[in-house]
Amino acid sequence: MLKLDTLISNVDRLLTLDPIQGGSDLGVLEDAAVGIVGEKVAWIGPTAQAPGAATIIEARGLLATPGLVDCHTHAVWAGSRASEWRRRLSGVPYAEILEQGGGILSTVAATRAASDEELLAGCVARLRAAASRGITTVEIKSGYGLDPAQERRCLRIARRAGEIVGVRVFTTFLGAHTIPPELRHDREAYVQQVIQEQLPAVLDVADFADVFIDRGAFTLDEGERILRAAQEAGLGVRVHAEQLSATGAASLAARLGALSADHLERLPPHAASELARAGTVAVLLPGACLYLNDPSPPVQALRDAEVPMAVATDLNPGSSPTGDLWACATLACVLMGLTIEEALVGITRNAGRALGRSDLGILRVGGPADLALYAPPPGDPVHEDALVQRLEGHRATLTLCEGRVLYGATDYSPT
Ligand SMILES: [Zn+2]
Repeated sequence: MLKLDTLISNVDRLLTLDPIQGGSDLGVLEDAAVGIVGEKVAWIGPTAQAPGAATIIEARGLLATPGLVDCHTHAVWAGSRASEWRRRLSGVPYAEILEQGGGILSTVAATRAASDEELLAGCVARLRAAASRGITTVEIKSGYGLDPAQERRCLRIARRAGEIVGVRVFTTFLGAHTIPPELRHDREAYVQQVIQEQLPAVLDVADFADVFIDRGAFTLDEGERILRAAQEAGLGVRVHAEQLSATGAASLAARLGALSADHLERLPPHAASELARAGTVAVLLPGACLYLNDPSPPVQALRDAEVPMAVATDLNPGSSPTGDLWACATLACVLMGLTIEEALVGITRNAGRALGRSDLGILRVGGPADLALYAPPPGDPVHEDALVQRLEGHRATLTLCEGRVLYGATDYSPT
């Protein structure tokens, strides 16, 4: 007879995100239990039939989800852009702020000047906040170092922060985020540096590579050269595509078989079918749409073409200063027209897929025991509709990653 280490018992509403296990695309089970052995899910089913366990966690009155997956962040940085935001609100154009060394370049300067300890502390704090929201997997990009040693340093710090907090971290090399001030006059020299010096320097600390292909960033041709070099070096690729202008970057992502094409605010609708054929995930970033007052990506075209859609925070100090993935799920519904189911699949199963991991963001026997429990907002039923509807900064009562407590208490009791 199966003996469990831990049983999460009497869950009012369990979203497994596995349609095979329960009703709807969310795989809903009611009055259910999840059994854990070691780092894995060992049993899922009705509480009444659950095997014995060494530890029982009572989850009456709570909703459970797989550990959430934030598949697009820039969570290693130093400095603040809050005062710059104040200036933008007063009407100063972003181009003028950039000319004065503000914007992304001010974050590059502050990041380069920061000590390892300072950068690590910032990233650890951001990952702890993520864990408190029920997030168990975070993708973190470099891109504020912009030279071989600094890019490597940021990726190492991202991994170290993941080890300290216990959140699963995937790292993405984004040396081609912008051109640093010292090479503004010679962009080709910078592209060469990314390919010939930065890429070899980060290979053992990066899981993926990414390029910001856009007006004012990198051209389609530069992006293709960098991404092909990364693929030849063995890295999976993803692309910041079609955010500020339509460049053809999404089609390139499809041609390269990229794991994800991210942003897509200016995606030409016809390119959706190319993403679908390639199996590339569309990562929607509603925080950036909100702060930049940008249009929504063509969600209906993505839906019609059956492109898998993920939703992420784009956490960064300027254009999307939030790590609140629940808020981004809400905004994806409000600003982009996603259904509640699409938003929830977007912050779980499809976000895992964007990282090449179909076992993340889903609760299934044999998969990692990543799970979060939530109490409903006061007065609301124990139901996902209430969590997605309300912009309340939801916190988990308990977050587990690979069976370990990341956040919260195992003895939550509703009052
Ligand atoms: Zn981004």
